[in-house]
Parts: sequence; C-alpha cells; structure tokens
Amino acid sequence: MSTSLVASTHQLRHYYGQEETKKIVLKDISFSLHAGEIVILTGPSGSGKSTLLTILGCLRTLQEGAASILGFPLADLSLTELSKLRAQIGFIFQSHNLFPSLTACQNVQMAGELFPTPNRIIQKKSIQILERLGLEHRINHKPAELSGGQRQRVAIARALVNKPRLILADEPTAALDRAASGEVVKLFRQLVQSGERAILMVTHDEKMYALADRVIHMEEGEILVR
Ligand code: ADP
Ligand code: MG
Repeated sequence: MSTSLVASTHQLRHYYGQEETKKIVLKDISFSLHAGEIVILTGPSGSGKSTLLTILGCLRTLQEGAASILGFPLADLSLTELSKLRAQIGFIFQSHNLFPSLTACQNVQMAGELFPTPNRIIQKKSIQILERLGLEHRINHKPAELSGGQRQRVAIARALVNKPRLILADEPTAALDRAASGEVVKLFRQLVQSGERAILMVTHDEKMYALADRVIHMEEGEILVR
C-alpha cells in the first residue's frame, strides 16, 4: 500500500431499511484519496454523498465491500483503533452541532481534549484557529450569540484544530458569505500543502471547483466520473 493513501474504498455498498423496505443507496463505490489532494463530491440531493462521508468518518457502520482509512480497514476496528483513527479525522457537518452552553473557544477545545496535551496549549491553538477564521472578536461568545456563518466557522475550527490527516466536509460553506468561504478555501489549500493530509468535501458551490484536484460526481449511489 502506498504511504500516501489516505482513504480508499472497494465496491462499497450501503442499504437503508430492512426486508421489503430495504433500499440500496451506495452501489459498488470504489475510489482512493491521496495525501495532498482536495477532492470534491457532487451530485443531486439523495445521491448518497452524506452517507458515504459518514461511513468514511466512522459515524456509520460499513455494511458491504471494503474501506480503509489511514491504513485501518474499517470492517474490523477495535475500540482502541477506532478512537485512534477518529482523532485523525476532522468532520465538518452540514449543521454545526456546537454545544450551546460552551463558548466558541470551549467548543473548539472540546476536540483538543481528545489528546493528552496540556490545556493551555489546546487553548492557544483554539484561539489561533478561531482568529485565522476571522472570529477573534467572538472567542468567548456562545453559539446563540453568533450568526449562522460564525457558528459554521467555529465548527470548522473545531474540526481542524487537531490538524487531522483526513478532513471530511459536508457542504462546509453553504451557510457562509463570500468572504468567509474564501477564508475557508484558503485554509483548506494550506492544510493540504504539506502533503500529509487530504480533504473530501461535498459542495455544490462551483467557485470551490477551482480548489479541487478532482471532482467526483455521484448519481443514485454511483460514481459517474472519476
Ligand atoms: P445526499 O447527501 O447526496 O443528499 P444521502 O446520503 O443523504 O444523500 O441520502 C441517500 C439516500 O438515502 C436518500 O434516498 C435518502 O433519502 C436516504 N437516506 C439517508 N439517510 C437515511 C436514513 N438515516 N434512513 C433511511 N434512508 C436514508
Ligand atoms: Mg447530504
């Protein structure tokens, strides 16, 4: 296996429902993602993009076929392997999923708490990434005190603070204005530049296509263009 392989799937299939309601939503998905790459996943609503992302992010169980992330085969992960792997995956959801009772900075630090790193280092890193995303004046605000775009940027900061090797993003800029999406695009570019990590991102924003090394188009659970 190439060391630069970050994620790969082989004939991955996924179904929802059981017995007579059982419906196939991913049909033999095979693809690879290498370090240094930004790959965009597009396709109409219902084509299976979010399902694929959540399987790769270990948030949904692999049913059929094979998938391997950072050298870990998803089919039979121990709890220890799963937690090691999850610490190296940054997931940005369509909705921000922030803790309402915590400040922006505390929300970002929650991701950092996974590591046995001294608290003040995590705090410093959290502040740095929030500043980077233009939130220097919102560090101690709670989600309810932030705009939709600001909340999404906090969620992005939280996903990126540990510098994960694999970043999975589901329409990360849908709630952002032009300037804020521009910042996210720049940050993503910088993150892959070191050649150590890869980004797989669902987006319908054609401006983002210029950022991508490849665009994968999905329709009805299948990849049409590779
Ligand atoms: P996309 O992100 O491309 O819009 P999804 O992965 O969300 O597609 O959905 C793919 C298909 O699976 C759709 O037909 C959707 O209705 C169905 N689906 C998604 N999540 C579930 C679920 N939790 N239970 C049952 N069906 C689902
Ligand atoms: Mg979706």
